Amino acid sequence: MAQVAFVGAGPGDPELITLKGVRAIQAADVIIYAGSLVNPEILAYAREGAKIYNSAEMTLEQVIEVMEESAARGKQVARIHTGDPSIYGAIQEQMDILGRKNISYTVIPGVSSFLAAAASLRREYTLPGVSQTVILTRMEGRTPVPPGETLGELAKHGATMGIFLSVQDIERVMAELGRGYAPETPVAVVYKASWPEEKILKGTLADIAEKVEREGISKTALILVGGFLGSEYERSRLYDPEFSHGYREKSR
Ligand code: SAH
Repeated sequence: MAQVAFVGAGPGDPELITLKGVRAIQAADVIIYAGSLVNPEILAYAREGAKIYNSAEMTLEQVIEVMEESAARGKQVARIHTGDPSIYGAIQEQMDILGRKNISYTVIPGVSSFLAAAASLRREYTLPGVSQTVILTRMEGRTPVPPGETLGELAKHGATMGIFLSVQDIERVMAELGRGYAPETPVAVVYKASWPEEKILKGTLADIAEKVEREGISKTALILVGGFLGSEYERSRLYDPEFSHGYREKSR
C-alpha cells in the first residue's frame, strides 16, 4: 500500500465518495483534510484514534512535514481534497515533493462539484447541436490566469462553461463573458451542490448577477453558462434508429 493516499472526497454529500476513497480513509492512521470545503461528515469514516489535521490552517511545508514524519513511522496517511483533487486541488506540488522524498503515494479520484452541479440541475453539458465542449475555468483574481485564458477569450467559443472560485465577482464575470456570449445566454449558479443547504439560481448573462447578490451567495458556488441550460437541442445519434455504430445496426 502507498504511504500517502490522496482522496477526492466528492462535492459534499458523504455518499458521493468512492468505495476506494472510503477504504483509504478507514485504513489511515493520519488524516489531513481540506477543512474549508470537505464535509466534516466524511471524517466519520476515519477509524477511532486516527490523528486528524485541518490543512486550511497549514502551509504546504507543514502538510509535507506531517506526511513525512508519519511515513517514517510506518503510518498510513489519507490526504483528503474536495471534489476531485485534479481540479484546483494544489495537489501537484504535494505529489512532486513526495516523489523527491521517495514517499510513495496514490491518487483516488472523486466526484467534482461541476459534475454534482449538472446532476442537481438535471442537465447534460454536451448537447448535440448546442455544445460538445466543456470549459472549466475561473476568473482572474488575486491569482492571474495565463494569456489567452481570460473569460472574455474563452467566451468566444460559445461552449458550455463551468466557472470555479469566482462567484464573489459575479458582476465582473458576466461583463467579461459578454465579450463572447449573447446577453440572453442562460446561466445557473449552484451553491453547495449536493449539500443539504444547496441552492440553485437560474437566469441569463444579463440578470444572474443581481439574483446572486440578492441571495448573498459569495462562496462555494459554481457558475454554469451556455445553451445546454436551454431547451433546444438535437437528439443524440447514439440512440437514433437511423444511425448504426459498433454495437447496433441501423433499424429498418
Ligand atoms: N477540487 C474541487 C474544486 C476546488 S476549488 C472540485 O473538484 O470540485 C473550490 C471551488 O469549487 C469553490 O470556490 C466552488 O467554485 C467550487 N465548489 C466546490 N464544492 C462545491 C459545491 N459543493 N457546490 C458548488 N461549488 C463547489
